[in-house]
Amino acid sequence: MVVELLFLSIYSCAVITFCIGFIVWQKGNRKNLIDRLCFVMALCSGWWSLFFGLVLVQTEEKTAALLRSLGMIGVFALIICITYMMAYWSGVQGKTRRFVIGFAWLGIPLYPLTVQKSHIAFEMTSYGMSYQMNSGIWSLAYAFYDVVIALNLLMLVLYMRRKSTRRREKVMAYNLLACLVIVGLGSILDTVMPLVGLAAFPGSTIGQFIAVMALYQTYLFYKRSQMNLENMSQFVYYSVDEPVFLFDETEKLCIVNNGATVFLEMDAEECCRLSLQQIFELSRDPFRFQGSKNRVEARCIQNHNICSVSIDKIYDDYHDVIGYIVIVHDITERVHMTERLEQERKRADKANEAKGVFLANMSHEIRTPINAVMGMNEMIIRECEEDTILEYAQNIRDASKTLLALINDILDFSKIESGMMEVVEEAYSLRAMLKALEKECSMRAEAKGLALRFIVPADTPNVLLGDEVRVRQVLLNILTNAIKYTIKGSVTLTVSYERKENRQLQLTFAVTDTGIGIKEENIGRLFDKFDRVNEEQIHAIEGSGLGLSIVDRLLKLMHGTVKVESTFGEGSTFTVSLTQQIIEDQPIGSLHEERKEQGGRKRYAPQFIAPRMKVLVVDDNKVNLTVVKGLLRKTRMQITCVLSGKECLEAVRQEEYHIILLDYMMPEMDGAETLQRLKEMPDNKSREAAVIVLTANAMAGMKEMYLEQGFDAYISKPIDGTALERLLMEYIPEEYLNREAEE
Ligand code: ADP
Repeated sequence: MVVELLFLSIYSCAVITFCIGFIVWQKGNRKNLIDRLCFVMALCSGWWSLFFGLVLVQTEEKTAALLRSLGMIGVFALIICITYMMAYWSGVQGKTRRFVIGFAWLGIPLYPLTVQKSHIAFEMTSYGMSYQMNSGIWSLAYAFYDVVIALNLLMLVLYMRRKSTRRREKVMAYNLLACLVIVGLGSILDTVMPLVGLAAFPGSTIGQFIAVMALYQTYLFYKRSQMNLENMSQFVYYSVDEPVFLFDETEKLCIVNNGATVFLEMDAEECCRLSLQQIFELSRDPFRFQGSKNRVEARCIQNHNICSVSIDKIYDDYHDVIGYIVIVHDITERVHMTERLEQERKRADKANEAKGVFLANMSHEIRTPINAVMGMNEMIIRECEEDTILEYAQNIRDASKTLLALINDILDFSKIESGMMEVVEEAYSLRAMLKALEKECSMRAEAKGLALRFIVPADTPNVLLGDEVRVRQVLLNILTNAIKYTIKGSVTLTVSYERKENRQLQLTFAVTDTGIGIKEENIGRLFDKFDRVNEEQIHAIEGSGLGLSIVDRLLKLMHGTVKVESTFGEGSTFTVSLTQQIIEDQPIGSLHEERKEQGGRKRYAPQFIAPRMKVLVVDDNKVNLTVVKGLLRKTRMQITCVLSGKECLEAVRQEEYHIILLDYMMPEMDGAETLQRLKEMPDNKSREAAVIVLTANAMAGMKEMYLEQGFDAYISKPIDGTALERLLMEYIPEEYLNREAEE
């Protein structure tokens, strides 16, 4: 009975250790040395228990000997394995480590000696089949091996105890020591009892089992103190400040972290009584969603904070949901910040708008007096017969034009800077644009005695889609600079083109001059605003340093580029590249047919005469009225001037006018309102009249606004007499028009 019980117990030990081995294999990290050792240790221990348990119930010596020799494999393997484990944990290095491990491996040559049948004597005892080793050199060797192994392990444990700085290492050392003591006690039952005439009890087998169990505990303890995801996740969970809630599959809140208790100002138990809908104001069931993640924004009912709530499904191995992780980000601050920023943005927009209005007003205020200066001056030029005074007047005209260009630049620049500049693409004639440019530049070039050449391939497609005004502005800027900064020689504009896909035309305009050139180190600065280079050479030349920075920014808006090559003292080439869409392939032909006309000073002559035309001019500024009247005097039209919108309404009640020139900015009733009233008036005799707005507001984009408001056309101040005549001609019926005056 005792034997059966003993066998069953030892057999159970084998089963338990095999199970442990299985668990370690399943759960442990198979790449980790200590996990592998623990697995092997459990297997060896199970092996030992299994075969030594079987030995107990044998009646025949032969089978007992065979089973024992099999069991001894487990004994030696376990010794080697435990030696490795303890050496690893103790941290012993170098020769000592090599000696300890090397000595354990001596078990292999020792094994055949310990299983030789002639070296062992079996006997049946009250604890079942037992055995003793016969005395001889082999039994001495085995005893010596056992003792040295025990001392080695003891040494490792003591070393570990001494070296350990942390409490957990000391605890491990004590555990290991306890294992050694248990094995020692067990083997005393095996070896010492027969010496005093008692039956040998299989203490070693039971002792090794207890020791292996203790080692397994030590292994678990060691694993718990290691850095790995499994261990650390709970520390992470509890230490994150963000509230984290774990819901089970029935959507019941089960676990909360410290962040959540702080956030809700409740203890964990109270928190777990709440559902997600009781924590957040949610319009829909937050757990019903496709995919594995859902994110909603909601206000917390407990503390009214605005939160971003992310809900993740947690799945089992079969992809069934086992619960939900709900992570809460308090975004109250962010939302408030965004609101504040939005307010700031609105305020900035308003300020920007105010800036726009200010610029429009500025433009108006400055243009109005220039209009007077230029208009009056134009009158002098037209009417003066004396050459010296004419020359003075022409100087005034040049200076006014420069002043006007400067104001335009400042306005354009502010517009670009505030992002209000838009590219307006329309079909235009490249030929007409280049001719206008040539006309504009040729006078300046001639005045300086420079040759101006435009080289344009005759087969260049003529009708293109693009922002003509801005392309012209870019080229005019570069050409004017070339003329400004060239003392003698020539300025040449060379156009070249390349056809691209989808009827795109890559246009290149190269402006080459034989001017003062730019030092290489200054080329990089050319496009900086308000920056002028080569100060010594150019101090006498007017300029604001804005032109090229406008060119650069405009080209960026039109996805074009500008490149500069220059040799100081010899000249420069500014190359502009732009892509425009071809509307019509019709070739541009030769530009130069009409060039001859432009040379020489021409006396003014009106473009038409229309004595039957009645024109009403409305402006609150008397000088402006005089200017318009003076500019149109030679056309012999019948011109009536009034000083306000109100007077205008009165005038149209009395008389039928063909054209009304209406100032936009007037006190009391402005141009827009006057126009509105004109249209609504039942007794308006000038209902058919074309209403042309006169304005000093020259900000880009204004033209579209005026046309939208119902004006027939737009002309900006300072009024250019020729342009005004050209515009008016469009609205004069053929029968009233006498073009004779043109010649
Ligand atoms: P500015 O009103 O001074 O002409 P820009 O921005 O048009 O301003 O030009 C910046 C500077 O670049 C000028 O001051 C001049 O020093 C230099 N620059 C521009 N074009 C030329 C050129 N064709 N030859 C020599 N220098 C030039």
